[in-house]
Amino acid sequence: MYDVAIVGAGPAGMAAALTLGRTHRSVLLLDAGEGRNAPAEAVHNFLTRDGTPPARLRELGREDLSAYPTVEFRRGLVTGVEGAFRLTVDGGGEVRARRLLLATGLADELPGPRGVERLWGRSAFHCPYCHGYECTGRSVAVLGSTPARVRLALQLSRFAGDVALCTGGEPLDPAARAKLEAHGVTVRCEAIARVEAPGDVVFDSGPALARDALFVVNVPRQRSDLAARLGCAMFADGCVEVDEFARTSVPGVYAAGDMARRATVPMPLAAVIAAAASGTVAGAVADQDLLDDDFDLARS
Ligand SMILES: Cc1cc2nc3c(=O)[nH]c(=O)nc-3n(C[C@H](O)[C@H](O)[C@H](O)COP(=O)(O)OP(=O)(O)OC[C@H]3O[C@@H](n4cnc5c(N)ncnc54)[C@H](O)[C@@H]3O)c2cc1C
Repeated sequence: MYDVAIVGAGPAGMAAALTLGRTHRSVLLLDAGEGRNAPAEAVHNFLTRDGTPPARLRELGREDLSAYPTVEFRRGLVTGVEGAFRLTVDGGGEVRARRLLLATGLADELPGPRGVERLWGRSAFHCPYCHGYECTGRSVAVLGSTPARVRLALQLSRFAGDVALCTGGEPLDPAARAKLEAHGVTVRCEAIARVEAPGDVVFDSGPALARDALFVVNVPRQRSDLAARLGCAMFADGCVEVDEFARTSVPGVYAAGDMARRATVPMPLAAVIAAAASGTVAGAVADQDLLDDDFDLARS
């Protein structure tokens, strides 16, 4: 019986484990493998670790955790959950804990066009804060036609060398087109056949557009169905609902990182440093809730 079982050893789960380990809680940290940013060459926008490869960042996290004897790391996929605190790992072994902390992250569906999957994380991106700076002075294409895509194209036009918005056959609002063109953004409305390395856009008709990088549409989904199976309240966008203290709607179950958000924010703050920060909060709150049990303390 562990004090806390943590599912997911990305930045959120590892930060929670660090907080719990430092208060001498027995922790089992379970992880199935790669995290969301695994295809990327480097983690950016993380103070003190800017430019570190994602796998190296995880190694560094596990090195930190190895200093705490009450934290146990185990490689394995959690395949089942029963009554919140009984987990099945890899379809076999059972784990029991007094509290459960989910940090299972998101996985990205890439609706297209053909070829995006091969470039994802390397020269096809979704986040200007993660990879925008690396496009400084370079040619980029933003795929899509929604107001958010127009906004992204304008954002990148501030520092990229040459920006094109490719709507993939969708019409574009004339006012948006005028604004884009006034800021030097090219608009291409032809249907897209495929994209090719590094970021070239090949249309059904007309000349291809040579690009260094692409900003594509991604559809994030929960990587694991554990929260759903536990009956945790979720938003329409699939994020697990947590309160300010990382508590889900299921007593004793916490969620941190990309997978969860509060009602007051419209989307998860999907960044490595934000995931780690939310894991720190979740770990401390789980410890506080255990203290209530340990010492039969009245909740203030
Ligand atoms: C291509 C790309 C590049 C990015 N680049 C950056 C960047 O440069 N800077 C930045 O700040 N952010 C970046 N991000 C965002 C960043 O990846 C996430 O914000 C961060 O990884 C979230 O951390 P997390 O701990 O919540 O989840 P993750 O890092 O995704 O970790 C979740 C972990 O849970 C494990 N897991 C899931 N289900 C189970 C289960 N059932 N049993 C056991 N283990 C399980 C997974 O294997 C995984 O290891 C990028 C995202 C993408 C898609």
